[in-house]
Amino acid sequence: MIIGIDDTDSRKGMCTTYLCAVLVDELREYGDVSTPRLVRLNPCIPFKTRGNGAISFEVVCAGKEEEVKEVVRTRVCELSELNEEGTNPGVVFGCVLDIISYAEEETLKHFYERAVREVLTLEDTYSTLADLQFDYFGLKNRRGLIGALAAVSFFVLQRNQPNYYDFTYELIEYRKKQNRGKARVIDEASVWKADAATYPLTWDTVDVANNKIVFAPHSPCPVLFGIRGDSADAIYRADKLIHAEPEERKMLFITNQGTDSHLIPLYAATKAKLHEFHSYSLVGEVCSNPKTIEGGHVVFPISLSDSGTIECIAYEPTKGFRNLIRKLRVGDEITAFGSQKKGTINLEKIEIRKLNVVEERNPRCGKCGRSMDSAGRLQGYRCKRCGTHRAHKEVVTIKRQIEEGFYETPPVARRHLSKPLVRVTAKRIHPSR
Ligand SMILES: [Zn+2]
Repeated sequence: MIIGIDDTDSRKGMCTTYLCAVLVDELREYGDVSTPRLVRLNPCIPFKTRGNGAISFEVVCAGKEEEVKEVVRTRVCELSELNEEGTNPGVVFGCVLDIISYAEEETLKHFYERAVREVLTLEDTYSTLADLQFDYFGLKNRRGLIGALAAVSFFVLQRNQPNYYDFTYELIEYRKKQNRGKARVIDEASVWKADAATYPLTWDTVDVANNKIVFAPHSPCPVLFGIRGDSADAIYRADKLIHAEPEERKMLFITNQGTDSHLIPLYAATKAKLHEFHSYSLVGEVCSNPKTIEGGHVVFPISLSDSGTIECIAYEPTKGFRNLIRKLRVGDEITAFGSQKKGTINLEKIEIRKLNVVEERNPRCGKCGRSMDSAGRLQGYRCKRCGTHRAHKEVVTIKRQIEEGFYETPPVARRHLSKPLVRVTAKRIHPSR
């Protein structure tokens, strides 16, 4: 049986991954429990809690399904932040993995991809649960059923098609009860050392350019820290090197974090095709030079390949990424990666595919070498001193201060789902570290 859970937490406390860790540890007495999955859903959804993450895991417990369900229901009731307005827990008890049909797998695939890229409703979820004949349980308005079913879906898809459904790992340590709400005790020097020893197999532990440790939350939730990466071995090595307050427990998750699975690729975009709260990779051309606006954000429009233009923005918290954006120039061909909010693409990364190195300028006089002036509309250019005349502007090649390739926001501003460039195997990547 595969169990998915979502929306048990609030901004103030708890964390669905902690509830998961408690259950995984507790359910081992009923049978084998798999490595749990941590599934991030569409990051733009307005009614999310912190990171919009749901969890799932498998329990092999032939004959004890009803007992297991009872344990899960009890823990969800007990550990959910039910007094918080936005907390609406949902639990899905999914299929046994090896008897799933092709049609059912297609249904799960469709549901998961919509959950991570689009905006699903509870009605969509109830109808899919009915099609699949999955048992479920929820509290209050039960909105968590959306994420719970998406997490079950990811579990099945990722296990059946690991080459198609990209994944990474996160090892999360949880704080002892008596420490929660107090400042976290973490030896920072040991964190830098652990990062240096295991990067790039682990990533987003620290932000070198901004001189900041980014792997620990600042909320009163039970999470002490989380180490992310591509190799479970490297993550455990890093964990060993880090000195911190004693943990209550730790749990390794397989996750869709760092995979870009929220991005919808559009090679021939028209503005009409773009929707609010969706994330895209958009091919376009910079159609006016970037400018810095109030608050330190940097904006510029791109023209889309079919028609229309859309504004892109690098927000102030993306720090040094804005310096790169400011160096873009009219005519640069780029791919913009990010979410559409209020009609603007919030940049997570860009690929500069082709820099515009051509500049037209007034021609220089062949005799004196000075810049010539316009002789009037459609009348070419003239040197006032020498009387020389040229018909057209001069085209020169200019040197640019940036290189082509991929650039990204720094770890301090990274979204859970955004694929860090250290994971990208393209040429000309410029990872932010
Ligand atoms: Zn001249």
